[in-house]
Amino acid sequence: MFFMMRAEFGLFAQDPEGLNPMQGVVDVQQYDLELWIQPGDTTIRGKTTIDLQIVKTTRELILQFEDLRINALTSNSGKIKYTYDGKQIMIRTKKKLKPGRSIRLVIEYEGKPSDGLIIRQNEGRYTVFADNWASRARNWFPSVDHPSDKARFHATVHTADPYTVIANGIKVGESGLNGKKSFVYHMDHPIPTYCMVIGLAKMSIAGDRTAGGIPLSYYTYPEDSAFARESFKRVADMVHFYDSLIGKYPYDRLSLVQSSTRFGGMENSSAIFLADQGAVYRRRSDPEGLLAHEIAHQWFGDAVTQSSWADLWLSEGFATYFSALYFEARDGKNKFDSIMDRSRNEYLRRSPRKAPVIYDGYPQLFQLMNAENYNKGGLFLHALRKAAGDSAFFSAIRKYYAQFKHRNATTADFQALAEAESRKDLDELFTLWLRRPGLPE
Ligand SMILES: [Zn+2]
Repeated sequence: MFFMMRAEFGLFAQDPEGLNPMQGVVDVQQYDLELWIQPGDTTIRGKTTIDLQIVKTTRELILQFEDLRINALTSNSGKIKYTYDGKQIMIRTKKKLKPGRSIRLVIEYEGKPSDGLIIRQNEGRYTVFADNWASRARNWFPSVDHPSDKARFHATVHTADPYTVIANGIKVGESGLNGKKSFVYHMDHPIPTYCMVIGLAKMSIAGDRTAGGIPLSYYTYPEDSAFARESFKRVADMVHFYDSLIGKYPYDRLSLVQSSTRFGGMENSSAIFLADQGAVYRRRSDPEGLLAHEIAHQWFGDAVTQSSWADLWLSEGFATYFSALYFEARDGKNKFDSIMDRSRNEYLRRSPRKAPVIYDGYPQLFQLMNAENYNKGGLFLHALRKAAGDSAFFSAIRKYYAQFKHRNATTADFQALAEAESRKDLDELFTLWLRRPGLPE
């Protein structure tokens, strides 16, 4: 994710939305969404089928879901009772659910999402784009809305011609009759809920391909198509660079999608959303820093996902540093040094010194978008590279990606691999940089 930092923050109690009440109790396998979106409407109708596995004996299942009206909730596990308070769905089963048991829940609902699925009608342009980070997937589909529970994602969207739909994964179906259109997408790898998206607009689609053969698609509003093609000219090279440096690109294809995301860019798995009101499209400014950052997230954040929000630097610090590595490799050491200096100066200017990088006390998850996770996380990776040496550092990166691809990781997981590859005790370095406030040098 890419944003402009502004807010000062205080340190109080942890945001309850950062916790997963089903941690260690259930493991969601797949979300299968069916959505009916009539162009012009501000309300949607939805049906979400959740396949989950019981990990620990329970009679209670909790899903996050906000504001929308539930029409029906059924399950394959016999009679269930549920309550819904507009914030969460509490399901109680008659019999105990034992570990290993597979449960299917089907929830039908409708209404106007207050957030998460952004429906706009601007100057005659009707658009619908998901924008979930950090905990807004719950605003348009019931979910265990926490990065520790990744799942496959399947989406069917029924709409009308000539609208185009994009979602995570590959398009497995498209059909139309009498002015109606339906699109079906499937992501066969587990991804975090904050990266599960659909987008709907009248769009132009252009294509490209990396040197390694990964297909790329650029979805834009028709009038921005030529500009996007021109400004994305190094996208194929960026994907190929990370593919060669870190390990094979985690998904089957990558799309860049002009959208209404509130962030400059959002790294949704295999479908990066770029802000239609942001620097790229409105100011026609150089988007390459943003693009290199969001593309790096496909490996770090999306494929290897932080187990908790406190470990967010594993996503943002990595994307920040790997973006700099792209420019080091292609544009030289001077460019790299200037990017790192700017990041360091920005960090010092904000002189946070309030919280360490790994910190779980922010009262709102949005406050995790700070100079600690981005700037200092990236600066730490550079300090680690210097301490370990290039060979051990990049070997640790490749092993970390290979081992935790499509899974979750913690800082301790990464530290163990960095220590094994460098044959050094790095505990002091990790502690100073990640668990103490301010810059250690
Ligand atoms: Zn980011």
